[in-house]
Amino acid sequence: MDLDYSTEERAFRDEVRGWLRENLPADLRGKVETYGSLSKEDLLRWHRILAEKGWIAPAWPVEWGGTHWNAVQRYIFEEECGYAAAPPLIPFGIAMCAPVLFEFGTEEQKKRFLPRIYRGDDFWCQGYSEPGSGSDLASLRTAAVRHGEHYVVNGQKTWTTLAHMADWIFCLVRTDSALDKKQEGISFLLIDMKTPGITVRPLKLMDGGHEVNEVFFDEVRVPAENLVFEEGKGWTVAKYLLGYERMNTGRIGASKRDLERLKELAARETKNGEPLLEDARFRDRLSRIEIELMALEITNLRFLDQLRGGRPPGAEVSLLKIKGTEIQQALTELMMQAMGPLAQPLATDETDGFEALDAAFAARYCNYRKTSIYAGSNEIQRNIIAKRVLDL
Ligand SMILES: Cc1cc2nc3c(=O)[nH]c(=O)nc-3n(C[C@H](O)[C@H](O)[C@H](O)COP(=O)(O)OP(=O)(O)OC[C@H]3O[C@@H](n4cnc5c(N)ncnc54)[C@H](O)[C@@H]3O)c2cc1C
Repeated sequence: MDLDYSTEERAFRDEVRGWLRENLPADLRGKVETYGSLSKEDLLRWHRILAEKGWIAPAWPVEWGGTHWNAVQRYIFEEECGYAAAPPLIPFGIAMCAPVLFEFGTEEQKKRFLPRIYRGDDFWCQGYSEPGSGSDLASLRTAAVRHGEHYVVNGQKTWTTLAHMADWIFCLVRTDSALDKKQEGISFLLIDMKTPGITVRPLKLMDGGHEVNEVFFDEVRVPAENLVFEEGKGWTVAKYLLGYERMNTGRIGASKRDLERLKELAARETKNGEPLLEDARFRDRLSRIEIELMALEITNLRFLDQLRGGRPPGAEVSLLKIKGTEIQQALTELMMQAMGPLAQPLATDETDGFEALDAAFAARYCNYRKTSIYAGSNEIQRNIIAKRVLDL
């Protein structure tokens, strides 16, 4: 097993690193480093810079704009972006809807939607979860009834990330409710968010931010040509897409950057003089996280080595999701401890060069409770490992 990068892979990493140094706008990097909120314009600006370079959709087929990078190169690229504090790439178009269209879409659907996703013309969101149908997704009830050349959609989605910015939503809907098995009779529809009858309502989170929404459908008419794959076979599409959703939840590069930041913070003088880094109990917790992060990286490299050998990762990807998100949360907990009362929006009168970071941090700490819930909760990931990896 080879857990180190080859000479070519190291050269590739240097190329990506150098390009990011030159092309990542300082204001965007600054916002990410200080955990500031990114507007739709910020997200699209970075999307378009990458699209112009030809690096926005590495995993796509080359004829549609993919880069022909192998799995290791794609991983290096993602980690370098995370480490350099590049804005996150919103996955719903590039990394979720597009793979579905490549696998299940008609030629017409591909031609209509993919170039717009690539250029950042359309902003997508994901309409899977409903009240009462999160982990038990197959119990979803939003109904779509075919009338001639249209489906008429009624129901509600919830937790829909960035729906308030989105032009399109891909949705799981129930087209047949008379079947015994709940996974049957579900279909996958692409819906224009401007269609009459759609209402988006914000869900305020405990960090005060607006990131997720409820989306209501009231007699929404969707052209039948927006059905992806066969009517009633949407569960096949849904499962395919969930694999993609969990691929990049480890965020190792971003966690490495957070760890460095944490060390800087803990090295600051405190009111009673002694930096927190000198505290044995704090150092113990810090070292444990650092070791966990190294172990996660090595585990990730082991999976990559399998991919090099042509074996796709299976349910093991759940392990990366669990460990990656646990580490992200643990880092935010220690950062809160390192900042103490400074991690409050009002406590910015102390001038030690960390004010912007301090002021934004309490919100980030609250926000990061989400990571063990979204993309399938960590408990559900453990169930997947138990069933499919450990064969219990
Ligand atoms: C910030 C955020 C963004 C999101 N964005 C989107 C989005 O854009 N689009 C979208 O469709 N959805 C989105 N979601 C929804 C997300 O996928 C669901 O929240 C998640 O699947 C859990 O479902 P639930 O909230 O209904 O909780 P429930 O399924 O009700 O679970 C409640 C608790 O019970 C546990 N549990 C449930 N079943 C089991 C079981 N069988 N075994 C062990 N434990 C179990 C869960 O782990 C959890 O702790 C988002 C969620 C969050 C928090």
